[in-house]
Amino acid sequence: MEVELLAFTPNPDRICAAAAFTSWKKHSTKELFEELSDKEAFDFLKMVIGFGHLSVTEHANFTFAVKGMSRACSHQVVRHRIAAYTQQSQRYVEFDKQDLEVVTPHTIRKNEEASRKFAELNEKIKDVYVELVKLGIPPEDARYVLPNAAATNMAITMNGRELLHFFKLRCCLRAQWEIKELADEMLKKAKKVSPVLFAKAGPSCVQLGYCTEGELTCGKIVEVKKQYAEL
Ligand SMILES: Cc1cc2nc3c(=O)[nH]c(=O)nc-3n(C[C@H](O)[C@H](O)[C@H](O)COP(=O)(O)OP(=O)(O)OC[C@H]3O[C@@H](n4cnc5c(N)ncnc54)[C@H](O)[C@@H]3O)c2cc1C
Repeated sequence: MEVELLAFTPNPDRICAAAAFTSWKKHSTKELFEELSDKEAFDFLKMVIGFGHLSVTEHANFTFAVKGMSRACSHQVVRHRIAAYTQQSQRYVEFDKQDLEVVTPHTIRKNEEASRKFAELNEKIKDVYVELVKLGIPPEDARYVLPNAAATNMAITMNGRELLHFFKLRCCLRAQWEIKELADEMLKKAKKVSPVLFAKAGPSCVQLGYCTEGELTCGKIVEVKKQYAEL
């Protein structure tokens, strides 16, 4: 899977800080945006985020381009409702056999017999898809044979608040591996351009200081916190 941060609100940390200060100061948001020192702006933003007053983080938007994620993964991603998505269509795109890529889970890749069976079935599926299209079946119906493993491309736009929520759930070791890989990549890229907003981003244990998974906890809070602090 390839994940790129295509675009984002310029100066995301400063925008959110100026928005946050707007409620406390006589100055306009523009004046605050232009005149606050980095220290004033970023200390205040950290404090407000620490209070859980996250609405100010909605002023920053981030657009990611994801290439080659499975449909099994994209189905989980779109359950996050406070976002904009555009996904490659299996109705409008008619695939040739060589375009029909699949994502192979690591567990299958590591097991020789499982790997062979998986590859054989996918070859058969691709052949049937191409045959159906040749028989005049429209791609929107031929796609019914395609697997959850089918690779897809997607544009994802989320604001800072939704990203923090997405990371809370999907960077967790309890999340499914592919969406966790996606969330970790998105976090790495977002944190580079918005280090204050995402300073404490990560799974629940990192953001809240405790695990929300109850008995299902991975039990690795210390290691996980260290990993995200170093991200
Ligand atoms: C480990 C894991 C396992 C999962 N297993 C399953 C499963 O087996 N089956 C399944 O169906 N799903 C499953 N899910 C998906 C899960 O139930 C959620 O649909 C998904 O994580 C999106 O979360 P959300 O609704 O909090 O977030 P978003 O849709 O991203 O919304 C963000 C927040 O906005 C608020 N919000 C959004 N929409 C509304 C609304 N309509 N009303 C009120 N508040 C709203 C809520 O506070 C919400 O938390 C799983 C998720 C995880 C992380």
